[in-house]
Amino acid sequence: MIGTTGPYDLAVIGAGPAGLAAAVTAADSGLCVALIDASERPGGQYFRHAAPGLAPQGTPVRHKRATFAAWSARLAAHVRGGRITHLPRRHVWTAEGGGGQAAVPERWTLRHVPVDSAPAAPTPAAPAPADGTRVTTARFLLLATGAYERQLPFPGWTLPGVVAAGGAQAILKDSGALPGRRIVVAGSGPLLPAVAVSLAEAGADIPVLAEAASYTGYAFRPGVLARNPAKAVEGARLAADLLRFRIRPRTRSAVVRAHGTDRVEAVTLATLDRDWRPVAGTEVRIACDALAVGHGLVPQLELAVALGCALRTAPDGTPAVEVDDQQRTDIAGLWAAGEPTGVGGVELALLEGRSAARSVAAAFHGSERGARARAATARRRRFADLMATVHRPGAHWPQWVTEDTEVCRCEEVTAHDLCQAHELGARDVRSAKLLTRAGMGWCQGRLCETAVTCLAAGGDGSAPLVPARRPLSCPVSLQDLADSAPAVDAGPTATPGASAL
Ligand SMILES: Cc1cc2nc3c(=O)[nH]c(=O)nc-3n(C[C@H](O)[C@H](O)[C@H](O)COP(=O)(O)OP(=O)(O)OC[C@H]3O[C@@H](n4cnc5c(N)ncnc54)[C@H](O)[C@@H]3O)c2cc1C
Repeated sequence: MIGTTGPYDLAVIGAGPAGLAAAVTAADSGLCVALIDASERPGGQYFRHAAPGLAPQGTPVRHKRATFAAWSARLAAHVRGGRITHLPRRHVWTAEGGGGQAAVPERWTLRHVPVDSAPAAPTPAAPAPADGTRVTTARFLLLATGAYERQLPFPGWTLPGVVAAGGAQAILKDSGALPGRRIVVAGSGPLLPAVAVSLAEAGADIPVLAEAASYTGYAFRPGVLARNPAKAVEGARLAADLLRFRIRPRTRSAVVRAHGTDRVEAVTLATLDRDWRPVAGTEVRIACDALAVGHGLVPQLELAVALGCALRTAPDGTPAVEVDDQQRTDIAGLWAAGEPTGVGGVELALLEGRSAARSVAAAFHGSERGARARAATARRRRFADLMATVHRPGAHWPQWVTEDTEVCRCEEVTAHDLCQAHELGARDVRSAKLLTRAGMGWCQGRLCETAVTCLAAGGDGSAPLVPARRPLSCPVSLQDLADSAPAVDAGPTATPGASAL
């Protein structure tokens, strides 16, 4: 049993840009912070690191190393000074507590397991790690759990060589590896051009970049663009990079079929109408040895939903935590920042993380936070809403799907199975899951929940996503559950397993 010196002032779940900025800013204000993250090193999805021994050979990935270096140095200083306890490779599977009056927040209790304890049941050769579930307590809690990619299925999407667009970017940042040599990039969202350019910079040939929406949607809100000049500059820079690598963006186009036997060999690209319905006679076949495909991001909300946070529906139909202009949720003592409050990119995540930390510090010290930070956050949020509006999936994308298209690949549930469930009365994800097992596999619906929602709604491709309430935010072994009233994290002064960065 590990002893405790008492609760942290603030626990931050997730060390991506939002959580990192929040933890450092809160520590700057004198708070003692626990920063718990499933990854080995801080930085989240944007500031990814090369895996040990797999350093990318000078791969020019597109992230702002200087920004990360500055935050990372501040984090390291606070870890050395004892203000921040960084707990890497720990997945928080449940959070309890909070509530009460805003002025009198209660204590939060977080249970977390080592990330590598989840994948396999222990065997005599590989016994369960000694360091199983641990508990961290804190007075205030911030959720900065990021997002995952939205996948819309089509025939052939389960072939080897078909990878998630952000996943391809992540592998490139981690190891410098490419999923193929001739890679079609397709889907929707602002991540796609960045992925295409990164892959091209690393040596891939990109025959086409297919965007299902139309970029002209941005032109209808000139005011939002004018108030976010940095975004316009970023867009212009990306356009120049696309030109440099002769990457041809094709808007209102989608991959509607991937072909191949052992792996993808070609894709069929079709022009789409405004509702993402393929236009007959426009199909062209493009040879490739990989397809990087993604349709935007979905906020990761398991903990927020389990805690009962009020949610809003973002303009792209994804659920997001409802927060006020200080990143406070409707639950006393609970803040949220970054992608869980609505997908908005790295700058917004950093701003929201800082805002949340200042608000938490104000709750301690009674000081008011700066209005300028609030204005900047609101400006970026309006741009994020514009991106979400432009790239919202069209109502007729389910027309890409054939009866035998596998929708839930973990449980091998086809579109036909889901249509049958719909005819039997399953109109929502939960009912569809109970009738077909869709979403009950290892990924817990992260890959298929958008498609299952739309097919359960009778093929309405723009049906808003309603997140399932799951008591555990990740698969947890029975051993970890059994041990879930275990050793308590030692608090700010002595935490075995904490990172020294
Ligand atoms: C696959 C992928 C690739 C992307 N690539 C790019 C890119 O190339 N360029 C770009 O501009 N944007 C990219 N984005 C978007 C970008 O990552 C975000 O805008 C930015 O990182 C948001 O920061 P965040 O702190 O909100 O979340 P994230 O950076 O996602 O960080 C969230 C962190 O929380 C941790 N976490 C989540 N749940 C738990 C839990 N229960 N317990 C413990 N830890 C937890 C995660 O491990 C992660 O480290 C990508 C997104 C994804 C999903």
